[in-house]
Order: sequence, then structure tokens, then C-alpha cells
Amino acid sequence: MSRSAHPAGPRHADVLPEGHYAAPPADLNQLHPKVWSHTVTRDADGVVTVGGVDVKTLADTHGTPAYVLDESDFRERARAWRTAFGPGADVFYAGKAFLSRAVVRWLDEEGLNLDVCSGGELATALSAGMPADRIAFHGNNKSTAEIERAVAAGVGRIVLDSFQEIVRVAHIARAAGRRQGVLIRVTVGVEAHTHEFIATAHEDQKFGIPLAGGQAAEAVRRALQLDSLDVLGIHSHIGSQIFDMSGFEVAAHRVVGLLKAVRDEHGVELPEIDLGGGLGIAYTSDDDPREPHEIAKSLTEIVSRECDAAKLRAPRISVEPGRAIVGPTAFTLYEVGTIKPLDGLRTYVSVDGGMSDNIRTSLYDAEYSVALVSRTSDAEPVLVRVVGKHCESGDIVVRDAFLPADLAPGDLIAVPATGAYCRSMASNYNHVPRPPVVAVRDGEARVIVRRETEEDLLRLDVG
Ligand SMILES: *Cc1c(COP(=O)(O)O)cnc(C)c1O
Repeated sequence: MSRSAHPAGPRHADVLPEGHYAAPPADLNQLHPKVWSHTVTRDADGVVTVGGVDVKTLADTHGTPAYVLDESDFRERARAWRTAFGPGADVFYAGKAFLSRAVVRWLDEEGLNLDVCSGGELATALSAGMPADRIAFHGNNKSTAEIERAVAAGVGRIVLDSFQEIVRVAHIARAAGRRQGVLIRVTVGVEAHTHEFIATAHEDQKFGIPLAGGQAAEAVRRALQLDSLDVLGIHSHIGSQIFDMSGFEVAAHRVVGLLKAVRDEHGVELPEIDLGGGLGIAYTSDDDPREPHEIAKSLTEIVSRECDAAKLRAPRISVEPGRAIVGPTAFTLYEVGTIKPLDGLRTYVSVDGGMSDNIRTSLYDAEYSVALVSRTSDAEPVLVRVVGKHCESGDIVVRDAFLPADLAPGDLIAVPATGAYCRSMASNYNHVPRPPVVAVRDGEARVIVRRETEEDLLRLDVG
């Protein structure tokens, strides 16, 4: 996306941002359905409700900031992925996006599988009763203890990420008297982000074993020789927040190329290919994500075309959406604390959270939108920057947005599409306790992850 100059706008003309914030939306009270979960609406007196619960009640009962998660929206999205891929494929929810025991139960009930990438995520999954054979264990540096627990639990797939790990997992599986299902994670030389992908030197990263130079083929060769490993297939994950399917096309072409080479060399047709996650969501109304059924159709066609050309039996496909399932299901509810208009610049709106509950804006320059949710307003739009309460000037939640000019301390505002990588990346910076996750459904709100307290923080400090 270009960072270009902007035509004059309604106010603060010299600092207007680009894209959809170049001009304020026609109606600030309107909630764009692309960025809010399905049950979000305004009730008759202008208060936003989700899952039949209004945000004022949520704030009164659970405090702010809080992540508010729409359970039926989550289930609908999970089901849409499951249905789109059908019984001939597997959908692994990427737990790192957001994981809690309630979420694990919903996924289990909706027939999804689960990706974990640490002992902590594995423990959460197992404690909520996810069958181990539907768990895949990822990571570029799993500890011996983590691998031992995964093997002992009977995890269906361990995704091997290095030559050391091939040997390590084989040893641990043999000692446990098990034959461990594994995938080999390869880097296909494709990196995809949003609307672009680059198919050049992107093997320069810590994940996976490069296809280039025959390294991945060598990894398969070694793994096939180890009796305690059941080599199920090849894994590739090319990026995040992707809208353009062409990166997957190149990845599938290259992965199938490896399957063909394996067949030619070893006479073995590996039965699975995992194309990873990374499918994009709408953070602002500018984003146009693909629907799961379109993605499923496109990936299935790509793989079967490539396999036909290589005269291979089409392998079972798996995908690993994280953000695309949980991202749109939650918003962060904040209370406005202070408002600082800076003449000729912009207005700074400070909320009671910040980079500790949403690091994505400062970490990735992520874009978000924001809305006044405790009431409607007919006041003129003002260009604002929503910032947190932390001791860091980069503590920005929403870089550029419009809010009504009569915004006042005590108003509730909400930032939509914060379900993925916000609570899971939350920190205790400035010793700010992490917010709760409140699930709403059918008029009821239920805390699924409680708010951290100062006692929680002090309990860790044993000095
Ligand atoms: C992060 C990750 C995912 C999920 O990515 P999303 O962008 O949340 O869909 C899937 N697979 C692997 C291997 C990952 O590392």
C-alpha cells in the first residue's frame, strides 16, 4: 500500500491519513458488517449489543478494557470452514491466535482439529478434552520435555521443523514405544502478506526446511528411514493476512513437486499435504476477505490440478486458519479517559488499555477501526488517534480513525476484529493486569478467561 499525499479533508487537512480514513464515513453511527461479528447491532436507544447483551451492561459487570467474544459467530465461522472443506480434508484451528478451554470445546463440538505450538497450548487443549489424535504440534524449537509430553499424549501429528528434530522426535517416540505421525515443514520460497506475494528469496527465515538445494528432500529421506516415525506428508505455511490465492498456488505446485520426487525416489506416495493458514480478515471496511467455501474450492482445485499433472493420487489436504476464525468474532471494549485535541494535528483519545492488550498496531503497523458504542452521536467527525495508558509514545491502538466531536470521558468505544493475536499476545507492561475474555451468546455473558488481578501479578513476585 502506498503512503501518498492526500486530498484535503474535513479537518486537520495537512495530516490526513490515506485509504478509507481520507474522508470520514457518511454515518459514524453505522457499524460496518464486514468488521463486526454477526450478532452486533445497535438497540433502540443507540447502545451497541452483541449476542443479545448491551455493552453498558458488559462494562458495568465485567469492567473495561475487556475482550468481548461472540460465541455464535465463532461457531458459525468454524463450521463454515469445516463444511467448506468437507469430510475429505481437515481444518486445524491455529490455537496461537487465541486459545482457552471454552474455545477448545467449541472447536471439538464443531468438528475442527487443533494446532498448538507450545507445552502451554498443548496443556490447554488436553485439559479441555480435545482428542490428542486431532492435535498437531508445531514449533521451530520444541523442547525435549514438550516432545515427550506430546508423544505420550498421543498427539496425531508433530510437525518436524529441522534436521535435529527429526532425530529427536524419532528417539523419543522409540523410547515411548510409539510410532509417531509427523509432517515435514518445508519453505517453498514464497512469502505472502495481504495483497502481495513474493516468490524469491524467502527461505531466509527460521521456520521450515528449504525445498531449495534439496534440503527438504533430504529431510524426507532421513525421516523415512526411521521406524518410529510415520511420515504422513508435507507442511507449508506461507504468511499471514493473505487475500491473494496466487501464493498458495505456487506453494502447492512446489509441495506437489516434492511429493512427486519422493514417489520417484522411494516409491512412496505421502498421503497428506498441509497448506497452513494465513487467510486474511477485514480489519477495516477496505479489506475484502474470501469466504471459506471459495478458499476451499480454490485450494482443492489447485492441489488436484498439480497432482493430475504429476500423476499422483490427490493427497488429503489440511489447512490451519487461526485469524480467519477468531479474529472477527471479538472486539475490545474500552472506556475513554482523556481527550487531547492538538491544534492543526489531531485529537488523542486515551483509553484504559493499550499496547498491553493490543500490540499489533505498534508491532505490525496494523490497521483497525473504532466506534462509539455506548450511544449514538450526530456531532461532526473528528480525526483521532486512539492511544493507550502505557509509558510509551508508540502505544497506539488505532492510528487513524474518525469519532464524533462530542466524544467525552466515560464514553465506551470498541475496536472490532481483535479476536486474534490480541489476548494471546497481551503483556503485563507497566504491571497492567490483562483484560478478561467475556463470551456472549443468546443474551448471556460468561467470563471464559478472567481478568488478571494485582494479586495475580504480586503472586509471581516472590522476592
Ligand atoms: C500462525 C500459523 C497459522 C495461523 O495463521 P493465521 O494467520 O492466524 O491463519 C497456521 N499455521 C502455522 C504453521 C502458523 O505458524
